[in-house]
Amino acid sequence: MYDYLLNAKQLKMRDEVRDFVKQVPRQMIVDMDEENIRFPKEFLQEAGRRNLLGCRYPQKWGGRDLDWPTTAMIMEEVGTLGYIFACTFGVGAELVCDAIIQHGTDFQKEKYVKPLLAGEKFAAECLTEPRGGSDFFGATTKAEDKGDHFLLNGQKRFIVGAEGADFFLVYARTNTDPNASPQDALTCFIVDRTDDVRVDYIYGLMGCRGGGTGRIVFDNVKVPKENIVGELNGAYPVFNTMMIPERLGTSAMTLGPARSALDVATRYTSKRKQFGQTINRFQGVSFQVADAAMLVDASRSQVYTTALAVEAGIDYRRIRRLICETKKFVTESCQQAVRNCMQVMGGIGYTNVYPIERHSRDLGLASIWVGTNEVMSVVAAHEWYRECGMNKETTWERNYENDAAEADAEDEKIYE
Ligand SMILES: Cc1cc2nc3c(=O)[nH]c(=O)nc-3n(C[C@H](O)[C@H](O)[C@H](O)COP(=O)(O)OP(=O)(O)OC[C@H]3O[C@@H](n4cnc5c(N)ncnc54)[C@H](O)[C@@H]3O)c2cc1C
Repeated sequence: MYDYLLNAKQLKMRDEVRDFVKQVPRQMIVDMDEENIRFPKEFLQEAGRRNLLGCRYPQKWGGRDLDWPTTAMIMEEVGTLGYIFACTFGVGAELVCDAIIQHGTDFQKEKYVKPLLAGEKFAAECLTEPRGGSDFFGATTKAEDKGDHFLLNGQKRFIVGAEGADFFLVYARTNTDPNASPQDALTCFIVDRTDDVRVDYIYGLMGCRGGGTGRIVFDNVKVPKENIVGELNGAYPVFNTMMIPERLGTSAMTLGPARSALDVATRYTSKRKQFGQTINRFQGVSFQVADAAMLVDASRSQVYTTALAVEAGIDYRRIRRLICETKKFVTESCQQAVRNCMQVMGGIGYTNVYPIERHSRDLGLASIWVGTNEVMSVVAAHEWYRECGMNKETTWERNYENDAAEADAEDEKIYE
């Protein structure tokens, strides 16, 4: 369906991922949605056994040295099972690993990344707090320097893998200077699960169930100094690099459920008959399916374009804009695609006879997590104006404003 985007090596890898996806039992999908499974350890263990986790990272630490477009393909394929599969696949191996690989020590990579990518350990990422959501740098979880260790106190909520993870990547306030800028106030830590790490609440979710999403309380947790990721008070650069896999990975995995819904709706509308003909012969139906295909194709194009931009190593601020645009466009487009697919199925699409209603519930999360889509607009707008230099002399090669017959009517160009 999108073979044309992949080279021979990537196609081989895709077939490997499809083999993995194929063997996931339907019962596991159902059990997760019904919360009979609270965290999919077996799924992650099998992914690890097949060396499919964190393929972008160096072989030395358990990855495969692959690139971003390949990662995008893997996330999409895994996402076809359901959004929560891609969430749990990605949170540990893509996000937590990214922070440790890029900013951590070899000791941390040996101790945490290797077993994580082998599917032997599970990790969760802890940014969001009850009071600090979109305003993430307003986090109040604290880590006090006690000489040979830090003492961690506070709480984080909506954490995928709260139940199930063996360790957590936690952002906490370490700078006691009240005048310190928020960007210089936080440190990133690896925190092992101990008795002082409590899960006080597991959320009843609309979708994306089975990922152990909960509120975690850190109650006088001793964190060894060697578990700082990056620098003391240096969480900002960690956060910045993590946003790439968070938002680009989320965009890629969002393609999965939309593609699965499109597949189901295409088959159904080719077989279901009303008024003596299959319903795909009604333009009211086929146009909705075609629009869904268009939205998925356009989304995938954007994911791959941004993946290539990341690979090319263009400047970080432009990447930030591209990633935020991509996350917003793809998540909203795929939500619309799934809505179209459900609509053309009629009543049966709204039932659990087909998986579209599950994908529809699950994808509600896509525009909320890893930064809401409103926050994506805030960042994209900020970076766009900065990039275009609207506050200083324009750097565009041509002044397009003059391409109008009355362009010289300066008295009509009123700005204040
Ligand atoms: C199922 C689930 C799983 C999650 N998994 C994780 C996880 O594993 N780890 C983790 O750390 N977090 C996780 N999250 C948290 C998620 O990233 C946050 O919920 C999200 O960033 C929004 O924060 P909030 O819920 O506090 O909403 P708020 O920040 O309170 O936002 C409420 C509303 O205000 C809007 N808003 C806020 N600020 C602005 C602004 N400046 N301009 C315009 N609009 C604004 C928001 O867009 C939103 O519509 C998860 C959430 C859910 C629901």
